[in-house]
Amino acid sequence: SPLPGGSPIQTYLDALHRRLAPLREGLVAAYIPELAHADPAWFGIAIATVDGHLYSVGDTAQCATIQSISKPFVYGMALAEQGVERVLAKVGVEPTGEAFNSISLEPDTGRPLNPMINAGAIAVSAMIAGTDAADGERRIMAMFERYTGRTMAVDERVYASEARTGHRNRALAHLMRNFDIITGDPEPGLDLYFRQCSVLVDCRDLAIMGATLANDGVNPLTGARALAAPDVARVLAVMTSCGMYDFSGGWIYRVGMPAKSGVAGGIIAVLPGQMGIAVFSPPLDSRGNSVRGIRVCEEISADFALHLFHTP
Ligand code: GLN
Repeated sequence: SPLPGGSPIQTYLDALHRRLAPLREGLVAAYIPELAHADPAWFGIAIATVDGHLYSVGDTAQCATIQSISKPFVYGMALAEQGVERVLAKVGVEPTGEAFNSISLEPDTGRPLNPMINAGAIAVSAMIAGTDAADGERRIMAMFERYTGRTMAVDERVYASEARTGHRNRALAHLMRNFDIITGDPEPGLDLYFRQCSVLVDCRDLAIMGATLANDGVNPLTGARALAAPDVARVLAVMTSCGMYDFSGGWIYRVGMPAKSGVAGGIIAVLPGQMGIAVFSPPLDSRGNSVRGIRVCEEISADFALHLFHTP
């Protein structure tokens, strides 16, 4: 039966949201012109547990593009479709210590260092696109739908905006074509990357996606398996070492959970066996991570002693 006064977790989240809403640091991403229309005041927090409970506060029904939070999920899909060795031959698993859009490839091979930076994610999307990018997109949407339990759509305006202005990502794709990390025409794989980044999600979707990873790959609300458990472990490993770009070390030190951020302002954090935490707040710090998102996860981790390497 419900506790008098409601769930203590809900009360906690309401207070946390109230306390961090006035934070005014950070800037909304504008290098993709369409993203600049985001409201810096948007702020949602959602938590989904592996037993299917969902807690949310704030703008958790506001849709925004998934951006780089797509990367670990599409990486998991590549592992499932192509196997670990084929994927590792194209994309490494070492942190870069550099920005998400860095032009950093291994010098001799041209292999991107990891699948969480743009170069690595574009190489992964090129593998998914294969010879039929339209089919790749259908498989990606079906994959996201297993994680969220609902029908997903692409924000065509954000997609068009990034496809028109993404010269740096285009350069990365062609550089990798030069090294035969990408074979054939690099444009279809690049385009698929732009489309996967433009998939619309709300904070609640992100929490459920995180909870699915926390639940060994099974969506706790629908019971559908989204990814095999050994591949979930691989995805969480790269999120741990590389998910927050050049803040990955600081993040795992302070928050202690695998995580992924996106430039539209989302962050997901995963506590294996327990929950997915999602925050949506567009203003970003200089590394492209949501300012309120980082604060929320730091505080939840500290207040509930959730750091993975802390044994209560
Ligand atoms: N689509 C964005 C880009 O490639 C994703 C970057 C991000 O979310 N960090 O620049």
